[in-house]
Amino acid sequence: MFRTSAPTAPPTPPTAATASAPGGRPDVAVAPVLRARRLVKTYGEQSTATRALDGVDLDIARADSLAIMGPSGCGKTTLLHVLAGILQPSSGAVDLDGTDLATLSDRRRTRLRREDFGFVFQDGQLLPELTALENVLLPRMLAGTSRKQAAADAALWLDRLGLQGMHARRPGQLSGGQAQRVAIARALAGAPSVVFADEPTGALDQTTGQAVLDVLAQACHRTGASLVMVTHDASVAAVCNRTVAMRDGRIEQEFRRPQQARPQAGGAR
Ligand code: ADP
Ligand code: MG
Repeated sequence: MFRTSAPTAPPTPPTAATASAPGGRPDVAVAPVLRARRLVKTYGEQSTATRALDGVDLDIARADSLAIMGPSGCGKTTLLHVLAGILQPSSGAVDLDGTDLATLSDRRRTRLRREDFGFVFQDGQLLPELTALENVLLPRMLAGTSRKQAAADAALWLDRLGLQGMHARRPGQLSGGQAQRVAIARALAGAPSVVFADEPTGALDQTTGQAVLDVLAQACHRTGASLVMVTHDASVAAVCNRTVAMRDGRIEQEFRRPQQARPQAGGAR
């Protein structure tokens, strides 16, 4: 019921792998939505080259939530950008629903980022001269949705995220936590299949950050979007089902949380 917009994105195709996910959401396919294989990313040339990714394999299932942790410089942001098709890997491949991103034209990849992916960054990156509503509806209009529909979707999402009465405010008139909710509304308004978040609470205090995270994790869970979140904070990672720990461009360890640690779905419906 939340997948209301993104007119050009076809609904999730029925696949052979639509069996119940562990934990029993019958609508959730268990086949990975994103699959990364032997990703290597090198910046620079020869003697000055930095190997930011050094052979990363990763599967992200539909509706799963994954935290990518590790010390500064270990390659977290690079991995997020390669998974999202923002950066091309030096070698290796990323598949989205079985399609290798490298086989797509730049135009198609850009469209896919607009229509299938949502992004939340550390400082929100809202456009300061636009209102909250305009910030949320603009990407929908760029993706081809009519202004009327985009505005309706944007208003719905702002309200869902507790921003009633704040649609006309500009980012400078919002608190940090409210601005991040606008960024989350913007990420989710396009009914993405994957939401990517890079240190989404890095600029917030602990309490505000935790509230924003709960909103983000619940919104993804309710819509069935997968969440891929970079953080260096273990309490932030705790809203995700899975955590991978990176070091020097590799995944060193992986943890999976029991199902009951998931955010409560549907409570605020
Ligand atoms: P993290 O997000 O974990 O802090 P990054 O993915 O940003 O790590 O960076 C991984 C490594 O790649 C670091 O050594 C960083 O200095 C280097 N790096 C990141 N972006 C670039 C770039 N555009 N050009 C050159 N080196 C880069
Ligand atoms: Mg980073």
